[in-house]
Amino acid sequence: MRADRDVDVVVIGGGQAGLSTAWALARQGFDPGSGFVVLDADDAPGGAWQHRWPSLTLATTHRVHDLPGLPFEQPEATTPAVASVPAYFAEYERHFDLPVHRPVRVRAVHRAAGDRFRVETDAGDWTARAIVNATGTWTRPFVPRYPGQELFRGRQLHTVDYRDPAEFAGRHVVVVGGGASATQLLGEISTVASTTWVTRRPPVWREGPFDEDVGREVVAKVEAAVREGRSPGSVVGLTGLLVSTPYIREGRARGVFARLPMFDRLTEDGVAWDSGDGDEGRFQPADAILWATGFRAAVQHLAPLRLRAPGGGIRMDGTQVAGEPRVHLVGYGPSASTIGANRAGQAAARALRRLLRDQGERPR
Ligand code: FAD
Repeated sequence: MRADRDVDVVVIGGGQAGLSTAWALARQGFDPGSGFVVLDADDAPGGAWQHRWPSLTLATTHRVHDLPGLPFEQPEATTPAVASVPAYFAEYERHFDLPVHRPVRVRAVHRAAGDRFRVETDAGDWTARAIVNATGTWTRPFVPRYPGQELFRGRQLHTVDYRDPAEFAGRHVVVVGGGASATQLLGEISTVASTTWVTRRPPVWREGPFDEDVGREVVAKVEAAVREGRSPGSVVGLTGLLVSTPYIREGRARGVFARLPMFDRLTEDGVAWDSGDGDEGRFQPADAILWATGFRAAVQHLAPLRLRAPGGGIRMDGTQVAGEPRVHLVGYGPSASTIGANRAGQAAARALRRLLRDQGERPR
């Protein structure tokens, strides 16, 4: 593999979104190595999957779609995703001889002379005619601010810090958040600890997986948000829907998913409600608070490009940034799923091939 530092396309991130884009760029005639490179901050293949908690298996995920061109030989449903998905990604990189450089963390992307971008990293600079950003969200956990957070003497952790329910055995844990991670972690922690579940909105349970109509409706809502430059929300945030799997039904039968509204503040040893419909004066002592409160897009390194819209997000037109056809975001907004990332990677590669050809530049 040639280590060219001036390429047509730099792909930032080597998870599902980055690898599917790399595969598609090669199919569009960009030369792996001299035409495009993938810069990935992790030490090993696997994207965020290599960092998830060990009890997350393919049986408890929604569904991990194959990367394009090489089927995922699905292991036993009980194999931890933290092992099986990274092994598949590693094989994928080898199979297609993808030019992935790691660990390389992109610090900032700048506009540079000659219609190029300068990609500043902890391993030196690259220059490129176009950028595909595929950095996911895992590295930007979001914890909302509540009064008293600094007073609480127990443990506060986010989904990214969670490892094993055994850490909480015999304790009381408050789980905050209404999404899939919150319900999964609550389900398993409640087998060894007492729990309280708090969410901002009452959950709406949906029996069985999302069908295609619901899926399309959700994607359309996220698309509309990013077209207007709003921050892309989560599926639950937009629809309020939670999928009731057999695992969840078992927890509901145990009474684990009896939900309380969001507390108003933390104290030294628990959480308190000052308002609400009948919850005023409620206090729950707690040993730990698990913030399963989601993520933000990891796009800080794009700040020098000034892409942020007044709505707090980046205004998008398909996979490209509106008004900037040389910058694509894959795995962002409507494509933040394994299947969405596959499709977006291919759309971005096609668009870049057309753009560079239209500019009279042939892919190398
Ligand atoms: P990631 O997998 O996060 O990869 C991003 C890569 O970018 C990483 O390798 C990281 O090192 C790199 N990176 C980040 N910043 C930089 C930087 N500055 N410089 C260089 N590299 C950088 N989706 C599904 O479709 N099915 C599921 O079952 C499912 N389950 C999920 C379960 C959990 C707990 C969570 C949190 C999400 C789940 N999702 C699921 C969503 C899914 O994980 C993502 O949509 C998809 O896998 C993300 O892929 P990605 O490539 O965008 O991001």
